[in-house]
Amino acid sequence: MTENLNPFAIAQAQLDEAAAVLQLDPDMHAFLRQPMREFHFTIPVKMNDGHTEIFQGFRVQYNDARGPAKGGIRFHPKETIDTVRALAAWMTWKTAVSDIPLGGGKGGVICNPREMQPDELERLSRGFMRAISRYVGLTKDSPAPDVYTNPQIMAWMLDEYEVLTGHHEPGAITGKPLQLGGSAGRGPATAMGGMFTIREAAKLRGMTLEGATCAIQGYGNVGGFAHRLAHDLFGMKVVAVSDEYGGIYSANGLNPNDVVKHLQQTGKVIGCPGTDNINNKELLELDVDILIPAAIENQLTGQNANQIKAKIVAELANGPTTPEADNILNDKGIYIIPDFLCNAGGVIVSYFEMVQNAYQFYWDEPMVNDRLDKKITTAFLAVHEMAQAKKVDNRVAAYLVAVNRVAEAVRLRGWV
Ligand code: GLU
Repeated sequence: MTENLNPFAIAQAQLDEAAAVLQLDPDMHAFLRQPMREFHFTIPVKMNDGHTEIFQGFRVQYNDARGPAKGGIRFHPKETIDTVRALAAWMTWKTAVSDIPLGGGKGGVICNPREMQPDELERLSRGFMRAISRYVGLTKDSPAPDVYTNPQIMAWMLDEYEVLTGHHEPGAITGKPLQLGGSAGRGPATAMGGMFTIREAAKLRGMTLEGATCAIQGYGNVGGFAHRLAHDLFGMKVVAVSDEYGGIYSANGLNPNDVVKHLQQTGKVIGCPGTDNINNKELLELDVDILIPAAIENQLTGQNANQIKAKIVAELANGPTTPEADNILNDKGIYIIPDFLCNAGGVIVSYFEMVQNAYQFYWDEPMVNDRLDKKITTAFLAVHEMAQAKKVDNRVAAYLVAVNRVAEAVRLRGWV
């Protein structure tokens, strides 16, 4: 039978497994299987060639029992409502496992930002905000960057929101540029949080990180910073990295400065001097200590899971591993740091950004990183203890911790 790669079907199947272990009340289970609210809208954008392109946008507020919905907006040519639903569900579990007072949401636009001019992207970003401004804001739902969106896009969205509402409300959006109330450390936050979880996993496995080999799939904000931090913080030997155009390999380890310089010159990692080309499949199947999928969903599947040789898989991407792959990797004894735990650093620092915006008092980067470390390490240990206590794998354990918290909030509110 071929695998079902629909991300929302996968997110629901993961919840179903956790619900069975928890013996979750069937009504609660039914409630948590669906988004509470979703918006589908068109965004007409005047393009530079004179025609008006009609883009399709989505915002899903999956669950806001624990606080306002929270989650990024993706600009992606292959965006679908089911991907956004899955990502919004994972945000719900991510904020809960991190124990920050927020719910889960996600947005998306079907578009190819690489083929758009900056002013077209600005009109699209402002159009997105016009379409949902009534339904978002500090106390309702606060968007952030995700795949192919960035601080500049957040700045345009925030400006549009504040023009429409007539007041300043910086916490309505996170991942903003520092000058508009962004947080120190928000750029590297997802990768930084992932490093703290890798440090804890390595302790449990008795693995020394100095000199440990690593392969990273994806070289966007998350993968790029992961390379730098793995190299600078731990002295890990990152032997392979990739982006959507292909990958590079060097047995001696890749220096992040060299790769970034080449990327700035050519727009791609391939061709970086002193490296060999490697394809996506080869990168994932390398015999390394740590594999970091930091791109998009469904990368480790029933097709390739048997060939994965890493000892630790640190899921900095959302949804990189299918349930079939999950079973295979667990059977092989590979230690998985599940996505909504491993990559929670971004939303944790987004929460810190909202706190700083509310107080209009800003922290320096060491303070942000120190507080991030405490939050994510506490979450990591809660998941580890749950896995030991219930004799389940890390992903199921993360679900047990998160679903318990969300279900409790739903119950206390009297919704179910
Ligand atoms: N897009 C990031 C994620 O998937 C961050 C979300 C946020 O900061 O709200 O976790």
